[in-house]
Amino acid sequence: MSEPRVFLPGSTVGVMGGGQLGRMFAIAARRMGYRVHTFSPDEDTPTGQLADREVAAAYDDEAAVRDFARGIDVLTFEFENIPSQTVAWASEECEVRPSGRVLHTCQHRLREKLFLVGAGLPLPRFEQIESEADLTHAVAKLGTPCVLKTAAFGYDGKGQTKIDGDTDLAATWARYEGTPAVLEAWVPFAREISVIVARSAAGQTVSYPVCENQHAHHILDLTLVPARIAHDVAARARQLAGRVAEALGLIGILAVEMFELPDGEILINELAPRPHNSGHFSFDASITSQFEQQLRAVCGLPLGSGELLRPCAMANLLGDLWANGEPDWAAAAAFPEVKIHLYGKAGARPGRKMGHLVAFGADPAEAASRVVAARHALVAGR
Ligand code: AMP
Repeated sequence: MSEPRVFLPGSTVGVMGGGQLGRMFAIAARRMGYRVHTFSPDEDTPTGQLADREVAAAYDDEAAVRDFARGIDVLTFEFENIPSQTVAWASEECEVRPSGRVLHTCQHRLREKLFLVGAGLPLPRFEQIESEADLTHAVAKLGTPCVLKTAAFGYDGKGQTKIDGDTDLAATWARYEGTPAVLEAWVPFAREISVIVARSAAGQTVSYPVCENQHAHHILDLTLVPARIAHDVAARARQLAGRVAEALGLIGILAVEMFELPDGEILINELAPRPHNSGHFSFDASITSQFEQQLRAVCGLPLGSGELLRPCAMANLLGDLWANGEPDWAAAAAFPEVKIHLYGKAGARPGRKMGHLVAFGADPAEAASRVVAARHALVAGR
């Protein structure tokens, strides 16, 4: 096997996608002396504002994709739902990490679950649904409550329906008709956790301390690090994440979202082969952020330490905070232990991720109460 290619500082890294994950990646990459080009359908994107070059074109514009790929050394992603054909075109022009195969697996819930089953990894019971008859049969098999999820392109709880004993299955299926879906058994979890793990081109893996995630309306609201879970459960969660990265043959960074059951058992919910919202804490609180780690992995460098410098908590800032005008940034800045991150997005819509805060504390609970207080201060006087 030939040695994996290494791209040293001065090289140009391309990022597909233009959101905040690419923005923080661009900050990390530029700090290490790399050039960053970004490709997405939009202009003046959060990533584009920090990149050396921003290309606004459709993912199915073959000429634009090939031209973009010829202008970079290695391509990575901040968004996994890039069409396979786009990745295939780029792969003919430059190195692509992680590979199109990894993206293909993770951009489709059913393929992802079948991969996890094949790798012997634990996940909630599920059934593939293609018709109303499948749904009726699967609900009887898995019991209620259960959750119907679209197989493709779902995130932040979009495309999900909880099914109870009295749910009208025909009416539910009518909304999914023609869309392949997955029915999942309901998981009575004690906690939602995630692990960020990186795997280098040379096969080295580094995982981060476990994140404890709290959601509001299906969107991540708060992350506490380290998660307040038993040491053996944390060790198992990190080990599972490493096994997923190995089994995928990942080169890059991966978030593994998991459910912790009351008895400490862990089930894998979802994979994202890119930096993840729950890993934002690492930008301020880790020796190597998830973004620098992605850069190191895709450039073929040795990985950095994932060690946490201090207990911390991250709170998302959604567009809802703008309902009564611009939030009071000075009030949040008055918390000396709080870091403010804003993504440069112009339109603050409800549910849109506009930025986040990170706070430190003697323990994760203290950090969480600080970060929540700072977020509250943003709107307290409004
Ligand atoms: P997902 O888009 O699959 O990550 O789901 C979004 C959120 O819905 C999760 O973070 C959980 O809070 C909840 N959820 C999803 N699937 C299940 C399940 N099988 N059992 C219980 N809660 C779930």
